[in-house]
Amino acid sequence: MMAQYLALREEAGDALLFYRMGDFFELFFEDARTAAQILDIALTTRGEHMGEPIPMCGVPVHSAESYLARLIKAGCRVAIAEQVETPDEAKARAKREGTPSSKALVGRAIVRLVTAGTLTEEALLEPRRANMLVALAELRGSIGIAAVDVSTGAMVLEECDPEMLGAALARISPSEVVVPEDWAQGPDAAIFRPRSTFASDTGSERLRTIHGVATLDAFGSFTRAMLAAAGGLIAYLDHVGRGNLPLLLPPVLRETQSGMAMDEATRASLEILQNSTGARAGSLIAAVDRCVTGAGSRILAEDLSAPLLDSDRIEERLALVQFWRDRPIERAQLRDALRAIPDLGRALGRVVAGRGSPRDLGQLRDGLSEAMRLHHWLTGAPDRPAMLDAILSRLTGHGALTDLLSRALVPTPPTERSNGGFIADGYDAALDELRATSGDARRAIAAMEARYRDETGIATLKIRHNGVLGYFIEVSARHADRLMAPDSGFTHRQTMKDAIRFNSLKLHEEAARIAEAGGHALAAEEAHFEELVAEVVAAREAIAATAAALARLDVGAANAERATEGDWCRPEITEDTGLAIKGGRHPVVEAALAKAGERFVANNCTLGEDDRLWLIGGPNMGGKSTFLRQNALIVLLAQAGCFVPAESARIGLVDRLFSRVGAADNLARGRSTFMVEMVETAAILAQATGRSFVILDEVGRGTSTYDGLALAWAVAEAVHTQIRCRCLFATHYHELARLAETCEALSLHHVRAREWQGDLVLLHELAEGPADRSYGLAVARLAGVPASVVNRAKSVLEKLEATREATGGIAAGLGDLPLFAAMRAEPAPASAEQQLADALQDADLDALTPREALDLLYEWKRALPRRNG
Ligand code: ADP
Repeated sequence: MMAQYLALREEAGDALLFYRMGDFFELFFEDARTAAQILDIALTTRGEHMGEPIPMCGVPVHSAESYLARLIKAGCRVAIAEQVETPDEAKARAKREGTPSSKALVGRAIVRLVTAGTLTEEALLEPRRANMLVALAELRGSIGIAAVDVSTGAMVLEECDPEMLGAALARISPSEVVVPEDWAQGPDAAIFRPRSTFASDTGSERLRTIHGVATLDAFGSFTRAMLAAAGGLIAYLDHVGRGNLPLLLPPVLRETQSGMAMDEATRASLEILQNSTGARAGSLIAAVDRCVTGAGSRILAEDLSAPLLDSDRIEERLALVQFWRDRPIERAQLRDALRAIPDLGRALGRVVAGRGSPRDLGQLRDGLSEAMRLHHWLTGAPDRPAMLDAILSRLTGHGALTDLLSRALVPTPPTERSNGGFIADGYDAALDELRATSGDARRAIAAMEARYRDETGIATLKIRHNGVLGYFIEVSARHADRLMAPDSGFTHRQTMKDAIRFNSLKLHEEAARIAEAGGHALAAEEAHFEELVAEVVAAREAIAATAAALARLDVGAANAERATEGDWCRPEITEDTGLAIKGGRHPVVEAALAKAGERFVANNCTLGEDDRLWLIGGPNMGGKSTFLRQNALIVLLAQAGCFVPAESARIGLVDRLFSRVGAADNLARGRSTFMVEMVETAAILAQATGRSFVILDEVGRGTSTYDGLALAWAVAEAVHTQIRCRCLFATHYHELARLAETCEALSLHHVRAREWQGDLVLLHELAEGPADRSYGLAVARLAGVPASVVNRAKSVLEKLEATREATGGIAAGLGDLPLFAAMRAEPAPASAEQQLADALQDADLDALTPREALDLLYEWKRALPRRNG
């Protein structure tokens, strides 16, 4: 066995080897250690290898999926080694080969590699997330990208420049990336494959064979880099599936300039599909998604990841949303219907990959017949938008297949196919007969039990069945003598502690009838299963189109639902470079506030040719970041074809969206370096066009005041004067306000705040004009910084400002401020106790109301340094 194991281990490469032994997958050596730790299961030993005990752990075959899921999530790949012959076959083989049959080892082979990007199992996939596998190939300075969702077969080919690869991968968000072995440029965790598999001619040939076409022209004009990537992708799928290819739909060409461009940093900062910690909660999609099907959520995620640039296509989507928004009753009916529809695309994926179950066929039957019902219902609807018509045309045409599946399958087919029982009565007369035979025999056996009780006078006699003996007659030891008699007609089979088991000729005959009929019935069901699978495979493209159409229908209705729920509006898309958002809101922040019972303050944003850049000041926590992001998100939503959280929105198409957050604000993401901030900012300056929309949040913050201010100044100026794009720029540098003197299309704004009874009230309301002063100290007090520290800061600030006045304009870096010389010369501040004593001395007690006196006491108490312990 060791030799067989080691050979398979070698073949598995860097994957963990699941070695099938009876009802378990066992892991040995290092694999066992790794898996035991990840899965938190017991590590034992079995036998010895070179004098050392062999570490081992195992998982039961019937629950292997959940263990696989955890290993895959932890970044492992798993090779499944199955037994490929029965023990009897192994013995027969041993005999032929002349080895003693006691030594016969069941043959095993790796039947599949389970990897993160090639999953089809329901239990291993997230219903609302596409699972993308990507292959990359470089050809003459261009990168070909082949991306496939193996669970549904959707395949996209595209090409990009090397410097845009990061943005493309961020958009696709693959679970696994495959590259040629000598690949030099990221991503880090790629799988290396032989370079020879990334050849454009074999890629093209494989695609043509798979889709049975002489040329790929009908699908699009793919470049050689794309085809090379496709070649690498298909070869990898061959490799992991051991020659069993999953469902692959005809490749779709993605044009480079087809959508709104967003780079990695922008996606991360806008938290589109996940928040900064990688979770869905708190992301844009979590706040938007009201889809009732997993497939709908997957399409919506795609829409939000790749907003459009083509106003006709955007309007098509918006018209569909509008259609459902105006029909609340029908919308509710539609959503109820969709909710009950199984995930057709993924069921199809499993069936085509050869991993389908009778249950998957049942799902296809139910989904397709529901699609046809929806087609029938919606064809009657008046005023249908174009997109709905396109959807409807793909919901129909499955009459013959659904009819076949309906006749063939029982109402709820099982997941396990080896036990049969999924083909309906009445579908196949021969199968019915076999079932009748075994039914007859079962009844005969039941009757036999009663007869034997009568004949023997043993009321407790039973006819039972188990996996080892089959059918047998059982009596207690007390009664056994009667059956033991030589002429009793019973033959002894087994003596247990309290029971003795017998056989009889008649019982043997009936049992044989059941076994034979059962075996034939299983074979017949298996044959029907294969036929049904073949029918589904033949119709795969039409089924996939129906699945996609249902998902699109879901997205349209879900966006209408969301719009109604939040009173969102239909954006007006224009070809100019204006942006006019009235009463805009941030969908995520608004939802979070609503949960806490608080209200979101809506704000307007109007940018145009002569007012392109808004410089926004105001206190920390005043709502600057929120305002910036909400406008970017509204643009993104609009171009994704969704309604938007605003009273009204006119949006001149945005070709590229950039969002940058100053390093200091981004600490949580662990990207504190100023370098990162500058690299990202440089990308804007290199890539933004006059049609772009840029939001800059505290850029320049990640370095000392002097550098930071200078950089923020220069960046704002460049955006204003050279790029001339729409831009919102939040900053705490008051000095930037002076840009308004030279930049004619720059205007000053601030988030309003008010000091009220010594406390700061943040109004989260945008107003025109520069921020009047820094509210930093008030914010500090709000945050609970002790009053003594705040007071000290206040006096430092006063000195600072006086110095600034004196030096005129922009303050110097803190280090060389004359102020510090002045401060150093000053006596150190009095101790907190001394300050308190002074304050008590100065207090005019008679002028205080009791309430004020109490407040004062509280304040003094706060000002006292805390005692240790
Ligand atoms: P800043 O960028 O000015 O420091 P943020 O945009 O991060 O401020 O906002 C801080 C907090 O203020 C948010 O987490 C939110 O709770 C609240 N807030 C922001 N904008 C609004 C608004 N328009 N209406 C209500 N609350 C808001």
